[in-house]
Amino acid sequence: MAVKHWKMLIGGQEVDAPGAEPIPVENPANGQVIATVPAGDASHVDAAVAAAHKAQREWGARTPTERAIVLEKFARLLRERLPEFIDCEVEQIGRPIREMRAQVSRLPEWYEYFSAVARTHEGRVHPFGGPYVNYTRRQPLGVVGLITPWNHPMLILTKKLAPALAAGNAVVVKPSELAPITPLMLADVFREAGLPEGVYNVITGYGAAAGKALSEHPDIQKIDVTGGTETGRHIGAAAGRNLAGFAAELGGKASVLVFDDTDIDRAVSGALFASFIAAGQTCVQGARLLVQESIYDQVVSRLVERTRNLRLGDPADINTEIGPVVCQRQLDRVMDYINIGRSEGATVAVGGERPGGALADGYFLQPTVFTNVKLGMRVEQEEIFGPVVCAMPFRDEAHAIELANATNFGLAGSVWTRDIARAHRVAHSLEMGIVWINDHHRIDPSSPWGGFKESGVGKENGIVTYEAYTRTQSVVVNLSDEPFDWFDENKAVEKRYS
Ligand code: NAD
Repeated sequence: MAVKHWKMLIGGQEVDAPGAEPIPVENPANGQVIATVPAGDASHVDAAVAAAHKAQREWGARTPTERAIVLEKFARLLRERLPEFIDCEVEQIGRPIREMRAQVSRLPEWYEYFSAVARTHEGRVHPFGGPYVNYTRRQPLGVVGLITPWNHPMLILTKKLAPALAAGNAVVVKPSELAPITPLMLADVFREAGLPEGVYNVITGYGAAAGKALSEHPDIQKIDVTGGTETGRHIGAAAGRNLAGFAAELGGKASVLVFDDTDIDRAVSGALFASFIAAGQTCVQGARLLVQESIYDQVVSRLVERTRNLRLGDPADINTEIGPVVCQRQLDRVMDYINIGRSEGATVAVGGERPGGALADGYFLQPTVFTNVKLGMRVEQEEIFGPVVCAMPFRDEAHAIELANATNFGLAGSVWTRDIARAHRVAHSLEMGIVWINDHHRIDPSSPWGGFKESGVGKENGIVTYEAYTRTQSVVVNLSDEPFDWFDENKAVEKRYS
C-alpha cells in the first residue's frame, strides 16, 4: 500500500521539496514506513520566515483577548479530534497508547491556560521619581523558531507554541525528522480555529539542514529548542551570532532519591514510573536510583521483580506497558551503553537484552536495572535516553544530596520521604530545575519547567514563559508643564546646572 507523502506548511500553502529524497517516517514497533515528509532546506526556511513576518504583523496587532478567542476555539477543536492525534503519536514514535492518551488529552489545557494569561496579563507602573509616569508594555517578539525532538512530539511543541501564539508571535516549527506528522496535522485545526495563514509554519527536514538554517536565520527573533545538550550548544551559538533570543530544554540524568522512612511499595512504583515510561526516553527519566542503604536491598529486589514483569508489546494495545525505543540508531545507542556498563563492572540485575518472537521486528529492548554502579561510571553519568536505570546506595541525607548533584545535568529529580522538613530541605539543596516530592514526571501548563547546568536555559510553562515570548517597552511620560531648556544661555550657569 502506498504511504502518504505529507507536505510542509508555508504561509498557509502546502509545499514540497521535489529535489530532495523524502524522509521516511517509521513505526518503531515493526520498522514499517508509515509516511514520508519532504527534506526541507534553507530555501524553505527563508520562505517560511518571510511568510511568518508578513502574517505576524496582523496577528501581533490584535488584542490579547482577540488572540485568546482563536486559541480557545483551537483548544475546543483539538479536544474533539484527540483520538486521531493520539493514534498518530503511537504510530510514529511507538509510545504505548495508554501513555499517549494520558499525555495528549491534556494538551488543550495549554492553549486555555495561555489564553487566560494573555487575557489577564497586566503591565506595570514603575517608581520612576520626579514628575514622571513610567509604564511598561509587552509586545510580541515577532517570528520565533521552534525546534523540537521526537520523544513527546506534540507535548513539547505545545509547551512552546501556546505561549508564543498567545503573546502575538508567528512561528516556524522544525519538528524532529523522526516524528513530524502530528505537527503537520495541527495545521488543519489551526485553520478551522481561524488562525491567520502564515502564523503557523512547519518545515520538515533534518537538523543539519533545515534546523541549522532556521537557527542561523537573521530574521528570527528567538529560537526555542528542545533536544540534546550538544544540539542546544550549536543552536545557542547561532542564535548568539544573530543576537536572537534563546531558550533550550536539553538533556538530563534525573535522580530518584528514596529515604528509609518511605513506604517501600510506593517508592518502587514511583521508581518504575520515573524510569520506564516512554521506554525511558524522557528528559526527566529517573536514570539514577539513589536508595538509603538500610532499605537498598529490599527496594532493588522489588524493583527488579516488577521490572521483569513489565509487559512489552504492541504500543497500540491498551494492555502494553512498554513500547519499543524510537529507531535502530537509538536501540544501538542504548545497547552500546548496556555493554559499556557491563565492561565498567556494573551488574545487569534484570533486562539488558532484546526480546525475540513477535517483537523481533521492532526496536524493543528489555527494561534494564544496573547494580554495583560506582559514581563516575559512564552509564551513571551520561544520558542514555532509554529504559536503563542505575541503582546506588547512600548513607544519609548529605550523601544523598552529594550523589544527586554529582552530574553535569540539572533538569529534575524526585525525593521520596514522609519527613516533611527533610523533603523541602533536600529539594532546596538539589541543583535541579524541577524537584518532585513523592512523585515524578508531573507537569502542568502553569508550572515552570526547565533545567539548570547543562540541562538548559530558560523555562517552559507558566507566566514566565509567556513573558519570555514578549519584549518589554518602557514608556516614560513627563507630567510637568514647567518649561525646560537645558541650553538656555540666558540662565545663570549655576542655576542651569544646580
Ligand atoms: P536532537 O538534539 O537530536 O534533536 C532535537 C531537534 O534538533 C530535532 O528537530 C533535530 O532535527 C534538531 N537538530 C539537530 N541538530 C541540529 C543542529 N545542528 N541545528 C539545528 N537543529 C538541529 O534530540 P532528539 O534525539 O530529537 O531528542 C532527545 C533529546 O532531547 C534528549 O537529549 C532529551 O533529554 C532532550 N529532551 C529534553 C527535554 C527537556 O524538557 N529538557 C524534553 C525532551 C527531550
